[in-house]
Amino acid sequence: MIDETPQAALAAANRILAHENVLDAFGHVSVRHPEKPDHFYLSRSLAPELVKDDDIVEFDLTSQPVGPCDVPLYSERVIHGAIYRARPDVNAICHHHAAAVLPFCLAHDLRLRVVTQLGATMGSDIPMWDQRDKFGATNHLVTRAEEAASLAGCLGSHSMVLMKRHGATVVGKDLRELAFRSIYSCRDAELQLRALAHGPIDVFTPDEIALAGKFPEATLSRAWALWRSRLG
Ligand code: MN
Repeated sequence: MIDETPQAALAAANRILAHENVLDAFGHVSVRHPEKPDHFYLSRSLAPELVKDDDIVEFDLTSQPVGPCDVPLYSERVIHGAIYRARPDVNAICHHHAAAVLPFCLAHDLRLRVVTQLGATMGSDIPMWDQRDKFGATNHLVTRAEEAASLAGCLGSHSMVLMKRHGATVVGKDLRELAFRSIYSCRDAELQLRALAHGPIDVFTPDEIALAGKFPEATLSRAWALWRSRLG
């Protein structure tokens, strides 16, 4: 990946996250421009599993394409620009509606908790954003700059934010950390639901999440290499 263009790495991340059931026909993943921190890359409007290098479009932080662009774009791309503006430490973002996390965006008394060491990548106290709180009745798509800024504010310094009746948005320092966090948060969500079918469950404490949540580059690379190999 070292010699890879950002467009090629992002296309691979799209296909990995689709293959691992984080993204389906919808949802999207972006990466900050490595030389221009006020720009980012995101695919044109396309199912992530189908994204190739030349589908990638460059955007500014108002989420408008840089230069002429005559292809359809994701309506929720404002999420990406708003978070890159608010979080200089974030270099990759995934917005998804994975079935694994949706129950935690729907059930009133269900909180997404860390239940495994790998799930500690989520961090403690995952915030919940409800578009209805500030914007009333909407179509539940985040398409306006003020909606995206509100979501970025709720994310704060966390690693992911759940979105009521909608999905989740996950951030990372790079595409490998983002893929790891997106995939293992879905795994922990699935495991938690399965375990809850058998009664009350045990979860990681905040201290344990802090201890377990520091993953070395070798761990992130090992997982990325596996997921990448599955693309064929
Ligand atoms: Mn969405």
